[in-house]
Amino acid sequence: MLPAPVVIFDLDTLRADHLGCYGYGRPTSPRIDALAAESYRFQWAFSQAPDTGPSQSSIFTGLYPSSHGLKFNSAKLPDSVTTLAEVFSDAGYRTAAFVDGGFMLPEFGIDQGFELYEASDWNGLDTIGPRVLDWLDAHHEEDFLLLIHSYDVHADYESPEPFRSLFTSGMTPTPGFKPNVKQLEVIRRSKWSDQPLQLNDADLEFAKARYDGGIRFADYWLGRILDHMRALGLDRRATIVLLSDHGEEFQEHGSVQHDRLYAPVTHIPLLIRPPGGIIPSVITSVVQGMDVMPTLVEGAGLPLPPNLQGHSLLPLMRGESVPERPAFSESPYFGHRRGIFLGEHHLLGALENEALELFEFRRDPLELRNVVAEQPEVAARLRSLAKQWQDSLDRRGTPDIETPELDEDTVKSLEALGYLN
Ligand SMILES: [Zn+2]
Repeated sequence: MLPAPVVIFDLDTLRADHLGCYGYGRPTSPRIDALAAESYRFQWAFSQAPDTGPSQSSIFTGLYPSSHGLKFNSAKLPDSVTTLAEVFSDAGYRTAAFVDGGFMLPEFGIDQGFELYEASDWNGLDTIGPRVLDWLDAHHEEDFLLLIHSYDVHADYESPEPFRSLFTSGMTPTPGFKPNVKQLEVIRRSKWSDQPLQLNDADLEFAKARYDGGIRFADYWLGRILDHMRALGLDRRATIVLLSDHGEEFQEHGSVQHDRLYAPVTHIPLLIRPPGGIIPSVITSVVQGMDVMPTLVEGAGLPLPPNLQGHSLLPLMRGESVPERPAFSESPYFGHRRGIFLGEHHLLGALENEALELFEFRRDPLELRNVVAEQPEVAARLRSLAKQWQDSLDRRGTPDIETPELDEDTVKSLEALGYLN
């Protein structure tokens, strides 16, 4: 149903609701919207973690963070897990990845199975895009798995002009304010202190507008790559996937960037376009980022690795009736917090204590209204399910993980991005 070649656009930090095809008002995504118009669009896909290493590893292994081992950034994905690229590579497909560094560097083990794995140093699609076009010229007649990943949407929200300023005209942020990682990290980290800081409204709107400019820039490059694929005949031969590893918070819950499990962070876009495209189809069931791995493996007719936790989305795409399944997320921050999306509801919190929150994410997608006191029986049912899920993860165990050896330049670059300190 989804034959190779497979091309995955993995736009780090892209929240679903800032795309036109997910209802956003600002024109951030004309090309992504056009892709959605030929794709299965999953309205309610959720990430398994709020940060890059754990969530990306779930996407590419079909396993929860506790089960592939990367509960935190800056650990190395163990060799014992089987990745999407390993399955395709073992079956004789060419496998190539053009990624944007950070926690996608090969030092973190996510390169497993890629015969070519080229990592830029946060240079974005202006560097990665031309490499992808060249690679497609050389390999478009083969069967392959191609991963294109970038941080163009991630802070510092400094995409090239004209995209950077596309949505900021007339705005008057505080002089000296830049929505870069350095300044946003001061806000984010203050949440752990007695004196939490907030961006004022003008700065917040400016940050959002710059973030949206980054989306439009990524959308421009996606369009260029798709046009190139069409010229090579790949639009009729390739399966195209667009997704993200997590979203981004703009103080909907008092913080910025991404470290918690509220929907602005965990609600991700997911489009799957079969070769030739389809009449658009919107799937409203709850699904998970890590369902992509089994979907692509099964879609290509390849054997599924044993003990996967993700589920193939092919039955939903075929319109079959599928039992309702939950999506789970886990975060090591602010205590061990977990979240479960099921049906109409999202329950999140530290399962060990009573301070849980419950939201009706479909009608309240920013999760601004906590209904836990009004619907205690729903909260109790979801908490019990989440505990069962946690028990099953505990029984399965977490593989031993290594901390990778990083050279001085890599450490400096991750520190500059606000990580590792
Ligand atoms: Zn990320």
